[in-house]
Amino acid sequence: MAVDASPIVNALRTLEVGSVREEEPLRRHTSFKIGGPARIFVEPESQAGIITMLEWVRDHRVPYFIIGQGTNVLISDQGLDAVVISTSRGLKTVEVGQDHLRAGSGVLLTKLANTAAKAGLSGLEFAISIPGTLGGALVMNAGAHGSSMVAVVQTVTVWDPVLGVHDIDACEAEFAYRQSRFQKTPWFALDAVLKLTPGDSAQIRQAMAHHMDYRKRSQPVGEANAGSIFKNPLPQYAGQLIEQIGAKGWRVNDAVVSERHANFIINRGSARALDVLQLMRRIRSAVHQRTGVVLRPEVRWIGPGEGGTDTLWENLWYAEGTGLREPFE
Ligand SMILES: Cc1cc2nc3c(=O)[nH]c(=O)nc-3n(C[C@H](O)[C@H](O)[C@H](O)COP(=O)(O)OP(=O)(O)OC[C@H]3O[C@@H](n4cnc5c(N)ncnc54)[C@H](O)[C@@H]3O)c2cc1C
Repeated sequence: MAVDASPIVNALRTLEVGSVREEEPLRRHTSFKIGGPARIFVEPESQAGIITMLEWVRDHRVPYFIIGQGTNVLISDQGLDAVVISTSRGLKTVEVGQDHLRAGSGVLLTKLANTAAKAGLSGLEFAISIPGTLGGALVMNAGAHGSSMVAVVQTVTVWDPVLGVHDIDACEAEFAYRQSRFQKTPWFALDAVLKLTPGDSAQIRQAMAHHMDYRKRSQPVGEANAGSIFKNPLPQYAGQLIEQIGAKGWRVNDAVVSERHANFIINRGSARALDVLQLMRRIRSAVHQRTGVVLRPEVRWIGPGEGGTDTLWENLWYAEGTGLREPFE
């Protein structure tokens, strides 16, 4: 390790915002069950605690990374030489209005869908089958069954290193297919107002049951994965292209292309991030050779340059002069 992290750990503990751990294995915090250790892992217990933490890392120019449920990330086997801030404990409030929900970004999307159904609010039915938090869903403009977050987001309260806490409206978030401005701006989503329509709870539940049933039939439920590996090159579907080239069952060590859905890679037990990356490259190159289509990753690569960051996103916000390892050294 480049520097002794103890002074940072001690300073973060004195803030008393939640648990602060060293060398926390990130595989425990991802649906892929992959990822080396976080140099420092923090779980603030409240929104105020998260803001205190963010201000501290900004003021001390320490690199940080935000993690929700880790369902759309592939984290380096080397781990992250940064403060990883988890939203899993703080940011859990949900307020139900007559035509909207206001929720903290750490709330699970499935919980929001169920809360909306109970309150007779329509618009979040699509979200019942998407794992992860509201925060991750905003970043990814997560969607399924013909809808996505852009259809419901009204405003988001964000923290950023320059302006602090402020509200943005949905237009400013520049939502597009699995894209948003969150992916290129150091915004931390604190909470969001989701605009919904009064509807019939029974009908809403029926639609959600239909979506869940479809999911169980078409995807490898219960196995370690990160959802769709590649974005759909619309109007084509990544899964169909990968199936066409006969890649179902392809494997690199314990990373295997799902037999059930070709756009899913499964960790059969001890897959490493590099195994997944190798498999992704193999698939991408074969699809390109056979069909001329270049597949773009949907899963976000998080870590130093070993992952071929020319094609995979890197989302670790490094401040200048931290002394901690830079991402592409
Ligand atoms: C089985 C399975 C099925 C899936 N199906 C779908 C699907 O149908 N549709 C779909 O769109 N996705 C799907 N996904 C992908 C994933 O569930 C979504 O992208 C989800 O919204 C990610 O949420 P998360 O909390 O896990 O985010 P993470 O994976 O923890 O993080 C994703 C990104 O968001 C950032 N982030 C997280 N929280 C915040 C915050 N509060 N503020 C700022 N940045 C933040 C992280 O830094 C990271 O860059 C699936 C995944 C799995 C495992």
